[in-house]
Amino acid sequence: MPGMPEWQNKNFRGKNLIMTLSCHKLYLPTAIMLVVTLLACAGCKENNTSSDKLGVCVSILPQAEWVKAIGGDKVDVTVMIPPGASPHVYEPTASQMKAMTNSEIYAAVGSGIEFELNFLGKLLEINPGILLVDCSQGVQLIEVEEHQHGEEHPDEHNNSYDPHIWLSLTNTGIMATNICNGIVATDPDNEEYYKQNLNQYLNELDEMHQTFKQGFSNLVNRVFIIQHPSMGYFARDYGLIQIAAEEGGSDATIQSMVNVIEQAKQNQVKIIFVSPQFPPNVADAVAREIEGTVEPLDTLAENYCENMQNIFDLMHGAMAASQTT
Ligand SMILES: [Zn+2]
Repeated sequence: MPGMPEWQNKNFRGKNLIMTLSCHKLYLPTAIMLVVTLLACAGCKENNTSSDKLGVCVSILPQAEWVKAIGGDKVDVTVMIPPGASPHVYEPTASQMKAMTNSEIYAAVGSGIEFELNFLGKLLEINPGILLVDCSQGVQLIEVEEHQHGEEHPDEHNNSYDPHIWLSLTNTGIMATNICNGIVATDPDNEEYYKQNLNQYLNELDEMHQTFKQGFSNLVNRVFIIQHPSMGYFARDYGLIQIAAEEGGSDATIQSMVNVIEQAKQNQVKIIFVSPQFPPNVADAVAREIEGTVEPLDTLAENYCENMQNIFDLMHGAMAASQTT
């Protein structure tokens, strides 16, 4: 559409996302909740415009740090998926849907997390005037082979994309820039302020990235094992090898666990990582087999940069340890 800013015009995978969403079957409880919310929200927009802050809604906690780093005290951030919840199964509450009506911008991860595939379209119907930003615009997605086993899917393989794009400092630079473009388009008067904040944050991200690159460069063993395959982009950024029990994001199978145990033994890896959003039963079983330990690694913490530093320390420590055994 002429005159529309590039990123909105091209519109993002979101448009297809929205298209596909609308034909997705809506969970009945959610449908009822939606109607209730729509009715309840009909009157609430007015009495909340008092806040002169820009309302920005995001799906996952890490995005909240990016929005605050760019918007400072000019933004109010609403995070849909709360601490401890998984973006693969979480369903929004009625009060969250209501809160959505107070936002001017929805910054979607855009890489195919189930929460957005299942609910974003309906969330947007509640607030059709909201500006939708696709944070994944410009991010090089990793294609993954989905493994489905069992009766219905005898060894079926489909291709999809690894949705965990936020666990990469280079991707985050792109995602934060997309968010900044959305904020500037909504509040152009403060463009300079937002762009200055963005550049400062991009410098911080790049400094960390250079340090991580240097840190991993002298490692011989570059294999790490993990229960849920959320670190594919991190591994790509630093030439590491991710071995996951939940192959392609599907539930772990005996075969996939045997594979992980063999790889761990071959590479003297004694640590298996697990995210606090998932029950660690698979990781516990693998750890027993390799006489190793389970190490929590949070992939959805709000203090994004601090947490990425923590992830670096854990990963580097585990791989350095496996070199000496
Ligand atoms: Zn995941």
